[in-house]
Amino acid sequence: MQPLRGTKDILPKEVQTWQSIYKIANDILSIHNYQEVRTPIIENTELFERSIGNFTDIINKEMYSFNDQGKRNITLRPEGTASIARACIANKLYTQQSINRLWYLGPMFRYERPQKGRQRQFHQLGIECIGSNMPIADIEVIKLATDILNKIECNNEYLLEINSIGNLNEREIYKTNLVKYLKRYEHELDTDSKKRINKNPLRILDSKNLKTQEILHNGPKLKEYLGKASLEHFNTICNHLEYLNIKYKINNWLVRGLDYYNYTAFEIKTKNLNQQNTICGGGRYDNLIEQLGGPCIPAVGWAIGLERLIILMQKNLSQKVKQSRIYIATQNFDTVDIIWDIIHILQEYQVKFELDLSNNNLSKQIRKANQLKAKICLIIGENEIRDKSITIKWLQTRTQQTIKISNFRKYIRYLKKN
Ligand code: ATP
Ligand code: MG
Repeated sequence: MQPLRGTKDILPKEVQTWQSIYKIANDILSIHNYQEVRTPIIENTELFERSIGNFTDIINKEMYSFNDQGKRNITLRPEGTASIARACIANKLYTQQSINRLWYLGPMFRYERPQKGRQRQFHQLGIECIGSNMPIADIEVIKLATDILNKIECNNEYLLEINSIGNLNEREIYKTNLVKYLKRYEHELDTDSKKRINKNPLRILDSKNLKTQEILHNGPKLKEYLGKASLEHFNTICNHLEYLNIKYKINNWLVRGLDYYNYTAFEIKTKNLNQQNTICGGGRYDNLIEQLGGPCIPAVGWAIGLERLIILMQKNLSQKVKQSRIYIATQNFDTVDIIWDIIHILQEYQVKFELDLSNNNLSKQIRKANQLKAKICLIIGENEIRDKSITIKWLQTRTQQTIKISNFRKYIRYLKKN
């Protein structure tokens, strides 16, 4: 049996990479007072419909939705921000502190055509800074994305693209003008864009079609419709990014796929993946929490796609499963006590070991220890059990010695020291 299309088993060798990403994120984010939050993987379908917005790809065709036994409409979360906004409202997090800095890591689900860097179950690491409308919050959030990427050692492999998509009013006026302009070229647009012209015209800006892009480049630009506050917010961010030496490119056509953003929108793209080259997407969403029935609380955040990140990391991280240094060969399981006494001591001193579970004779077990490249094989055969002793065989030098079990703790302490 194969895993479902678009899903993957993450095997022990790879889990080490995942654990190291988790640790890097946790270290960097907790210094900045971000706290991890874990929300359910299933939510009411309505949550995503109300936040992500109709006429987006996610809502139109990518959601894993089903009815549960109680006939509720349930969806496997396609992204994290909506759930966090919901959790913020449900738990009234805003009453405990005015700023909530949260981060998450977990699986997301989208029904898409699987390709390199695109799966149906994938994982996102994300942060949300909830409670500030100041540009400094946007900068902190962006800086943290680059801090994490740098620490993971894919520096110079990525570029930050940033844009301001203004507030709702500014966008509405722009939208009207954009549609007016595009209608003149409607027959020349790609099929998807044609469909979007009445439903979600801003998404046309995202089109990868060259002809559509050419038409867009000669049309009205969102930037020209931004008011003073929007422009100031954006310029402040750019100034700080320059001070921080974070390279960025202003991309006037960057709008992002989800409906809830305003002001800042950004993406971090890699230079080497071709199609799936966006590893991080984020922006400001000042109206989302209110839109979902909470108070009016501004927020900004991002999400990094971990599978895409790991593709970049593979060059940098050597992935070796650390072998146990100690192998325990034992014969007579009828005398149960000795083996557990030994294991307790290894555990106490945090020495990694592997207990032989076969029914093979001792020499076969020792051969196995050799194959696994263990340093030491602890042998507990009939003689050892009788004498309450243990034989320690150094596999590389082929020397061995037998000590009393009562001295084993001292021996391990000595081993650890050297
Ligand atoms: P794309 O344009 O590649 O479909 P998106 O705009 O739909 O990306 P977001 O919703 O912004 O993606 O999600 C943030 C990040 O999550 C993306 O930049 C990407 O790294 C990752 N991501 C999104 N969808 C998938 C997927 N199906 N498989 C793997 N990673 C994904
Ligand atoms: Mg997508």
